[in-house]
Amino acid sequence: MRRLAILGATGSIGTQTLDIIRRHPDMFSACALCAHSDAEGLFRLAREFNPACCSLVDECEVPSDLKHIQWFFGPHGAEDMLIACGADDALCAIVGIAGLGAVLTALDSCERVLLANKEALVTGGGMVLDKAARLGRELLPVDSEHSAIFQCLKASESNKPRRLILTCSGGALREKSKAEIQNASVADVLSHPTWRMGSKITVDCATLMNKGLEVIEACWLFGMPPEKVDVVIHPQSVIHSMVEFEDGAVLAQLGKPDMRGPISYAMAHPHRISCGGERLDFERLSGLTFAAPDTDRFPCLSYAREAFKAGGSAPVILNGANEAAVRAFLDGRIKFGAIADTVRYALDTCEVKAIHDIDGVFEADAYARRLAEQRLTALERRN
Ligand code: NAD
Ligand code: MG
Repeated sequence: MRRLAILGATGSIGTQTLDIIRRHPDMFSACALCAHSDAEGLFRLAREFNPACCSLVDECEVPSDLKHIQWFFGPHGAEDMLIACGADDALCAIVGIAGLGAVLTALDSCERVLLANKEALVTGGGMVLDKAARLGRELLPVDSEHSAIFQCLKASESNKPRRLILTCSGGALREKSKAEIQNASVADVLSHPTWRMGSKITVDCATLMNKGLEVIEACWLFGMPPEKVDVVIHPQSVIHSMVEFEDGAVLAQLGKPDMRGPISYAMAHPHRISCGGERLDFERLSGLTFAAPDTDRFPCLSYAREAFKAGGSAPVILNGANEAAVRAFLDGRIKFGAIADTVRYALDTCEVKAIHDIDGVFEADAYARRLAEQRLTALERRN
């Protein structure tokens, strides 16, 4: 029986993780649940899973039937909860850099970290990987592409990969013209063709920033330089990613697009368990297609590569400006095209600095958000 702390329990990844626990109550329990502000949602989950600890960023009154649970509140509530709960594994699915502190704390206090929160690697990859190595913790990818690569690498014995190939659905605006992309509405963007996810990552999929963040995530997780991490557009999302070897052989991992696959793989690793997903029916599967990404219509993919190559605080600036711009887009302040514009402005305007510690990461993030806000305000006035 493994006891899991689930960070981001009310979100897309969090609720799918709880679905696996429901299917395998003999293997897993949820000993800690955390959310941002959806108190009612968290109360419902707490009644069902009866965790020892819970946390919310926004403080609220706890109902009398849940007072036996140990509650933590505030911006560091998730970290305090991790220290108190004694979980074996932490499933880290907070969205954004807001989850970085919890990932680092999870490495201190849990045996294994099941990582969905890719922004933690984009902003603090060096620190996360160093800490995992120093403490001998397993860092298991939950992102479907990285889970696929992890599985292909395991199947390759000790042969070194020559190239990693991340597949990409292309997002909701894959077939749109530059002008249509510029003016896409929130509703256009939130209708992802193959995956159902939280709103921030769905917007990132439409700009292709998600794939840019995933290139950086892959470089950290698998120790590859960015020029050996390719991206291929594959709209059906059946091949979840691939690894090419010295002899030209390519291993791929396939399945129906269902995040419960990679989530359950990380949870039960090194075993495979049923997760409720449909099987892949090859007789009904036709027309797997592939294309190169169009970085003219979707420049964020190149911005992410550029920021990672620049190093220092540049990936934190990229991420912070993107988080601010995506929020502004979802709030109706700016057009879709202004997201890429804002990230470009922040990268062009910022002074890139070396980062030595977690405070340096958060300073660079605050700086990125100030730069983004300058641009967002100017763009708002223009509309
Ligand atoms: P979501 O918006 O559906 O859920 C986010 C969860 O985090 C919610 O429970 C929310 O309450 C919580 N949260 C947000 N800010 C918090 C904070 N400051 N402190 C504590 N809790 C906070 O997002 P999601 O789609 O589940 O994505 C979560 C992470 O997983 C993201 O980093 C995303 O990139 C990654 N991911 C998601 C998917 C997917 O299919 N949804 C796939 C791969 C990777
Ligand atoms: Mg992914």
